[in-house]
Amino acid sequence: MKGVIALGNPEDYPDLVRRYWRGFLGGFALFAIIGPLLFIFGQRHYPVVSGVLAMVLGVGFLWCWGSAVAAWSAILRFRCPRCGKRFALSCLSSWPTSTCKHCGLFLG
Ligand SMILES: [Zn+2]
Repeated sequence: MKGVIALGNPEDYPDLVRRYWRGFLGGFALFAIIGPLLFIFGQRHYPVVSGVLAMVLGVGFLWCWGSAVAAWSAILRFRCPRCGKRFALSCLSSWPTSTCKHCGLFLG
């Protein structure tokens, strides 16, 4: 995780969205890769190997989701440069999109 994420700069917004997706998908990818291995080694009674794998999965997953949550909270606080409202936050959803949920401004 890189310290503080810069806020309020429209050029940073696409980067935030990318960082969010990288963390989000990275967490799932870790599960997809290590999950089956953990299952196989768990079945064959290798407590050391499965312990190490579980630790890698836990730490990696927390790291990925930590960076996704940090990016997401910055995305939620980001205000649209055109209309001044919360860019990705509306009463219907908080899903990070490349267009403003209020005025439709595109930052891609
Ligand atoms: Zn807007």
